[in-house]
Amino acid sequence: VISLKKHFPRPRIGFGPREVVRAVDDVSFTVGRGETLSIVGESGCGKSTLGRTVLGLTPPSAGAVWFDGWRIDGLAKPQLRKIRRHFQVVFQDPMASLSPRMRVRDILAEPLINFGLVKGRKAVDERVGELLDMVGLPRDSAMRFAHEFSGGQRQRICIARALAPEPSLVVCDEAVSALDVSVKAQIVNLLVNLQDRLNLSLLFISHDLAIVGHLTHRIAVMYLGVMVEVGDRDLVLDRPLHPYTRALISSVPKTKGETSKRIVLAGDVPSPVNPPAGCRFHTRCPKAFDRCKVEEPRLRSVGNQRRMVACHLDISE
Ligand code: SF4
Ligand code: MG
Repeated sequence: VISLKKHFPRPRIGFGPREVVRAVDDVSFTVGRGETLSIVGESGCGKSTLGRTVLGLTPPSAGAVWFDGWRIDGLAKPQLRKIRRHFQVVFQDPMASLSPRMRVRDILAEPLINFGLVKGRKAVDERVGELLDMVGLPRDSAMRFAHEFSGGQRQRICIARALAPEPSLVVCDEAVSALDVSVKAQIVNLLVNLQDRLNLSLLFISHDLAIVGHLTHRIAVMYLGVMVEVGDRDLVLDRPLHPYTRALISSVPKTKGETSKRIVLAGDVPSPVNPPAGCRFHTRCPKAFDRCKVEEPRLRSVGNQRRMVACHLDISE
């Protein structure tokens, strides 16, 4: 993903200025084959828009998305359809994304038939059975309706549907956020397992750092449409460098009786319409100084090549 931007014009109100929501504002990153990259940040920071733009569900305002050697942003629908099966998505709300009046068999058969992957009733049924095995649901679930299942089971169905066309990339947008704590853990384990077995690339979008810690290889932290820190999981979680990442991580409850001081940020995330000049975080940053108000910091490597931070402070690992 190279310098991706997604701006939404807002309808003009009266004689007011034309306003633009800068939901994603120059974001670049890579997800490797078989790798999980988590995009984290508070709600409204542009994570979901980033995910939707990467998937081609909405065209970017600028920048490029490359997938396995294909440039996929701005493709016409018929071209996009041809490669669509390689990148799939699992959304937050399995209730909303499954038709309650469809049998599970038909929900899972749909992508198989649409993408022309499996032909003939018997072969489809066999593949549906395999998909149910993969996500830990009994094979006789096939003849039941989506509304007969619990939230966690429905999310398993959504995962099976996403895996049906054998994608290499799956985007999970808050895929476990709506589930009860114990169910969350089961779905996280399932994802870790599948990711490893199928060598999937996962883009895991979440506001929940505690969950992310259980499944990700790398973490990218977003604030108001930009990335402020990217790095390997343990480094980011144990030694966050950017002041915003530090605050986010300090708010995650610690286990094993560890204590660390919670950094409480003043105020809410500002509006992505006309975000603050300079560093977008300067209105809430406990370390802000004069330069932060005028100059936007760029992501730069600090020591370890895989860790990048966007901050004017003299930061090194
Ligand atoms: Fe804080 Fe300045 Fe760094 Fe932004 S650039 S995070 S305001 S210290
Ligand atoms: Mg979201």
